[in-house]
Formats: sequence, C-alpha cells, structure tokens
Amino acid sequence: MTLPRPLIAGNWKMNGHVADGTALARAVVAGSAGLAAELLICPPATLIGLVAREAEGSAVAVGGQDCHAKPGGAFTGDIAAPMLKDLGCRYVIVGHSERRTLHGERDSDVQAKAGAALAAGLAAIVCIGETLAERDSGATLPVIARQLAGSLPAGASAATLVVAYEPVWAIGTGRVASVDQVAEVHALIRRELGARLSDGAMVRILYGGSVKPDNAVSLLGVADVDGALVGGASLDAKAFLAIAAAAPARR
Ligand code: PEP
Repeated sequence: MTLPRPLIAGNWKMNGHVADGTALARAVVAGSAGLAAELLICPPATLIGLVAREAEGSAVAVGGQDCHAKPGGAFTGDIAAPMLKDLGCRYVIVGHSERRTLHGERDSDVQAKAGAALAAGLAAIVCIGETLAERDSGATLPVIARQLAGSLPAGASAATLVVAYEPVWAIGTGRVASVDQVAEVHALIRRELGARLSDGAMVRILYGGSVKPDNAVSLLGVADVDGALVGGASLDAKAFLAIAAAAPARR
C-alpha cells in the first residue's frame, strides 16, 4: 500500500499584512519545488486571495482557518466554505483549539463546519487535542476518541479529510509532545478512522504543537504521523521549508 503524501500545513493565525504576507508566501512558493511533502498555507482571510495568486501554478495549496456551517446568509463577520473555494482554497481548518476555547466551539459545531467544507468541495482539516488537565488526569485517549467521533463529518474520505492531533498544552508553548505520546494518540486515531471509514488507513493525520525545524525529523518519523500543522514556525519561510524538508517521501 502506498502511504499518503505528507502534508505540511502552515497556520498563520491572525498574523500578516499585505507586504509581509506577500513576501512570506512568495518565499514559501520559491522554496517549494522538489519537496516530498505537499505544502499548504492557511493565511488570515484577508490574505487568502493574495496568497492564492502567489501560489498559482505552484504546488503550494491555500486554505482557510475556519468556515461557517452555512453556505451563506446573515452571519456578520463569518466566512462560508463556498467563499473559500471561490478564492482558490483547497482546504479549511476546522475546530482549532483556539476556536474551541475562545469561541466556544463544540464537537457538533466542528462537525457541521467540516460537513460544510466537504459540501463546498474543500478538504476539512479537523483539529482535536486534549488539554493539560485532561492529559494529567489520564483522560487523553478517551477525550481524543470522543472529539474525533463527534467532529467527523458524514461522507468523509481520505481525499476530503485530514485529522490534526494538536495537544492544547503544546500549541504555541514551545512544549512538544514526546515521540511516545504522539505515537500513542496517532495509533488511536488511525484505529478509530479505520473503524469508521473504508479508506481510514489513508487519511492523513497531522501532529501540531510547537513543531520546529529541530524537532521535525523525529516527529515526522513517528508511525502514523503524515505531516504537521505548524503555527509559529510557519511565519518564517526558512523554518517552514526546513520542517517540510524533514517530511519523509514515504514510510
Ligand atoms: C497551531 O496553532 O496549530 C500550532 C500548532 O501552533 P504552534 O506551532 O505555534 O504551536
């Protein structure tokens, strides 16, 4: 069985303006040729069109950081999945822990957003992850299984679904999950995907949480780690490309 091509996704979060966003996208595109991994940039919504133009004709994909569950309507400030598609996005992140924590998104909301993404022809990157309190109380695996079951959209397949395991305590903290911790959770996610989807073995499972060039080789070498969701380091083209270069061609 050929394993899926690794995906290295950069989540710029609420960072970037026209000048620096253009320069960053241009540098990532310029360094993207010949990499084994697929590269994805998820800029803030204001820069999606610009980054999509920079990435045109390259192997770099563009994605949103969130979408609404409805395809349009009276939802001030929100962005619908078809709008992302219209701008050239291929992916959208849903259920990032910052959305879950700061915007009160529940698994059911994430599932609805992921379903909207699929309906619009986008692939959904569904984020799940335990808090430090949950890890310390030994609840990590049940929490992950529950989040996954509650967040997966109907009708997903390896072509339309990516799962990102992002322990909340490792996001933006410089604290990285150990190789053993990552392996244990990714194995659980793989088992759960296998039980739910006919091609669950081919769904890419990303690790996210303080991924940097100096830990990328070990994290990306863990079984069932099919790429990374990168926050802080994706704002530096050199660091982001170094992480991408650490992704193995196939395992
Ligand atoms: C993230 O925001 O998804 C993330 C993993 O951030 P960082 O790489 O900065 O920890």
